[in-house]
Amino acid sequence: MKKLTGIIGVLMTFIGFITFLTAQMTISEDNYYTWTKPYTPFEARYITMKTIGIILLIIGILDLILYIASHIYTSKTEVDANSIKITSNVCPSCGLQVSKGTKICPKCKTPINSNSNSNAQWR
Ligand SMILES: [Zn+2]
Repeated sequence: MKKLTGIIGVLMTFIGFITFLTAQMTISEDNYYTWTKPYTPFEARYITMKTIGIILLIIGILDLILYIASHIYTSKTEVDANSIKITSNVCPSCGLQVSKGTKICPKCKTPINSNSNSNAQWR
């Protein structure tokens, strides 16, 4: 679902940019028309195209910003989950994961040195 939002954002930005660019190029290169009011049907078509292009571009960029923002938020929560893991200790004898305050392994009764930061050094 999140990936789809990103794809839609990229597509809308791309289509909006192409639409805007095509209309803008036609407007700036066509010297036959004045491109001022009152518009002929030809002029109106390209000005509408340019407006739609700008709107698509803005929505696409906003969508991308939202996508990137949610992506950053997701990676932050992933880091939080990892740091929770790091605060826990692992028994040096049997490898059982125990909470940080635990001094003796509940499985094999091996004393766990809670002062050792062996897990933190792996970062
Ligand atoms: Zn153990």
